[in-house]
Formats: sequence, structure tokens, C-alpha cells
Amino acid sequence: MSTFAVLDYDEVLERFDPVLGLEVHVELNTHTKMFCGCPTAFGAEPNTQVCPTCLGLPGSLPVVNAMAVESAIRIGLALNCEIAPWCRFARKNYYYPDMPKNFQTSQYDEPIAFNGSFAVTLDDGTVVEVGIERAHMEEDTGKSLHVGGATGRIHGADFSLLDYNRAGVPLIEIVTKPITGTGARAPEVARAYVTALRDLLRALDVSDVRMDQGSLRCDANVSLMRKDATEFGTRTETKNVNSLRSVERAVRYEMTRQAALLVDGGSILQETRHFDESTGTTSAGRRKETSEDYRYFPEPDLVPIAPSTEWVDKLRTTLPEMPWERRRRIQAEWNLTDLELRDLVNAGAVDLIAATVDAGATPAEARAWWVSYLSQEANSRGVELAALPITPPQVARVAALVADGKLTNKLAREVIDGVLAGEGEPDEVVAARNLAVVSDDSALYAAIDEALAAQPDVADKIRSGKVAAAGAIVGAVMKATKGQADAKRVRELILERCQ
Ligand SMILES: [Zn+2]
Repeated sequence: MSTFAVLDYDEVLERFDPVLGLEVHVELNTHTKMFCGCPTAFGAEPNTQVCPTCLGLPGSLPVVNAMAVESAIRIGLALNCEIAPWCRFARKNYYYPDMPKNFQTSQYDEPIAFNGSFAVTLDDGTVVEVGIERAHMEEDTGKSLHVGGATGRIHGADFSLLDYNRAGVPLIEIVTKPITGTGARAPEVARAYVTALRDLLRALDVSDVRMDQGSLRCDANVSLMRKDATEFGTRTETKNVNSLRSVERAVRYEMTRQAALLVDGGSILQETRHFDESTGTTSAGRRKETSEDYRYFPEPDLVPIAPSTEWVDKLRTTLPEMPWERRRRIQAEWNLTDLELRDLVNAGAVDLIAATVDAGATPAEARAWWVSYLSQEANSRGVELAALPITPPQVARVAALVADGKLTNKLAREVIDGVLAGEGEPDEVVAARNLAVVSDDSALYAAIDEALAAQPDVADKIRSGKVAAAGAIVGAVMKATKGQADAKRVRELILERCQ
């Protein structure tokens, strides 16, 4: 078992300033690939979504996917980038088994979008302005599966399998300028940036931004500068970090690892690193190539992209309400404090509540269900709120049944449980579990008369005007009806009975 030398976090910050560079790859949700007509659906049988072009067979020629270019421009505009009036694709030459062409069609010195900025809000409301270096178009590689080893990596594997379904899926790579001056909050800034970018891309509807499925991937570049230094230190690039929490952990770990090395008189190798979720540590990957190693040259098989001003202006009008604007509006409409809003955002509940309100619930009802009841359920299952097997319209339906007096809150929770258990729509659960409130007054009168007869002293008190005593009879009736009566109605009937 090897041990990892790391420096105490506070000590790292006494001696060094962290510098971040974040590269996010986002798979676009176009129906077809970047340079051919193959479908892009996730999860298909291996090697069923391929053709001569994305397999890189000799003689095949690429054609640019116009939707992908449109998405790239919209992303660039949303990130306040300049849009290149003219740009080209370039070949990035390298050999890897999941890259059948032996080069990746990418963009090099002529990205479609560049020089932007993105304001990221941290949990406590602090805003960090992140510079955007570029957003460029490229294609995804295939997928390798290394079989037989302990780690799932190529080292120690018995054999490898290749799936080219992903080869050629449109990607946008979004690269920040160096992020400096964040100090102790660098890991938090990294996480907040990826979170905000994910929300933005989702609002643009250009990707399904599933980190767990790899449609959003983050490479975190981290380096340390000594307090008296004037130049950035050597950076490492931790590849394909696949959750928001891991982005934060990976940055923090790299800071403490690099600091320990530097304090010990060592130097940092420019290399890629892998983040291990289970240990929270990174390990060395390959030595990082410089751009010269890739022998970039303009792609001769594709014409340049020259988006007209009219087209770009038209795309600008298609930009949606930005997530932060929407949050501000929702805060006002739902009458939330900053803290309440932040809790909803952190719980991933805003979209779910909004959709529940759209389906007819009041904001208060929607919030109560998602935050008070369903988030507990999500916690105990260890999943995101949105992953629970219940939809906003189903929650809205349950809220409507409560509002109509057809369900009590207690019964409504049972209906929600039934929906979560896969028993069908709320109304089906009500019927199957016989959960409807007993609204038949004659059935309630029978239960009330029985309870009054069983507790004659209480009945006398109520008759003599001590209405508070009715509580005991209400309780008995609720028990007799297994909680399926509306307590308020029961009380009314008791008082009427005892006049
Ligand atoms: Zn293809």
C-alpha cells in the first residue's frame, strides 16, 4: 500500500496560490454525429451506430452537422464570447485504438467562439467572474473497455473491447482562462463553475449534460504559484472527473499533493492524472503532450465555417432566459428568502417545483412535497431528487386531491409512497390501496354515534357546551376509519350531533 504525501490545506494556502484551468467537454444532443448521419442515441448495442466516415475508412468524406454549429454558436453567445466570422477545423493527429481515423477532427487556432466571460455565484452569494478562453467544436472518440484487470484501466487488462458508437458524436470543448485569486475557495469555485455551466447548457437545450453518462466531462488543470512567484507553476490535468463533488475533491487533493512535493524540493511533472472516487486521490496518467506533438493542420476535407452576422444575430434571439435570471424571477414569484432559494437550488429542486407548479400545484404545495417529503426519500435512496420515480404532474395531482379534500396529508403520503413503489398513477394508487377520504357522511355518523355511545361522559361534556372535549371523539372516529376521514368534517358532524 503506497502512502500519499499531502500538505495540510491551511499550510498550502500560506505558501501558495492555486491557479485553475477548467476544460469541459459537452456532448451535443444532435440526432446525428458531427460529420456523418449516424445516430447518437446513448446506450445502443456496441458498434451499431457506425458508418465508413466515423470508422475512418479510406475514401470516406465528412460533412459538417449544421445543428452542431448552431449549438456551438449559441453556447458561445451565452458565454459572452466573440463568434469567429470565419474559422476552420483542424486535424489533431494521434494514435489511440478508440480513434479509428488516427486523428481527431477538432479546432486549433481558429475556434468558433473565443474571449468570453461567465459569472459564477458561490453558495454564499460571492460572484466570481471566470474568463472563457474559447469554445471549439470537435468530435468524440469511441469507447474502450479494458477487461480482466483490477482497475478497469488498460494496465493489467487481459484484453480490450472497442465501441465506436460514440466516435464522431459532436463535442464542444469549453476552456477557461487561468482562474487566479480564488485562494482557499479554488475547489469550491471549480465545482460552482461546472455546476453553473451545466445549468446553462441545460437551459440552452444543447446537451443532456449527464456527468454520470459522460455527456458532460470536466478536466481540471491545477497548478500552484509560490507566494513570491511571478509565473504560474507547472500544471497537472486531472481527466474526466465525472461528478460535481469529484471536481471539488480532485482540485483540493491536487493542491495538497503538489504542495507537499514542492515543499519537499521536488518538481511537478506536466502530466494527466486520474481521479479515484473511492480514495479521493489522483494518480499519474500519461506525460502531457504539448500542442506541437499533435502536428495540427487545417482539415482539407471540410470547408471553412463562416457564420453570417445575420445568422449569429438570429441565434442570439433564440437564447433562453438564463438560469440565474430565472432563479431571480422564481425567487420573487415564490416569495423566497435568499437562504430558501439556495436550499432549493442545492437540493436540485427548482426545476421540479417549477414543473409541479406548471402542472397546477401552488408553489407552497410543490415546495412542501419536494423539499419536505421527497428529498428525505431521495436521501435515503442515495439518489438525486430528479431521479426519484415520480413526476411533477404526479405530485401536482396528489396536491390537487388534498386541496379537494379527497385525501388527508397522511393519506397523500401513502399515495406518494405507492407511486414511488411503481404502483401507477396517483388515482390508481388511491383506488388500489383504498385510500380515499371517507366522505360519505352516513358512514361517518355511524362511527360518531358508536364513539359517543362508548364515551357517554365525553358526549355529555360536549352537549353541555365544552366543545374542546370533541377531540377525544374525533380521535376515536379517525381510528375507526383508519385515518381515512377528514378530521375537520368529523368535528363538524360531532358538534352537529351533540346540539
Ligand atoms: Zn457514421
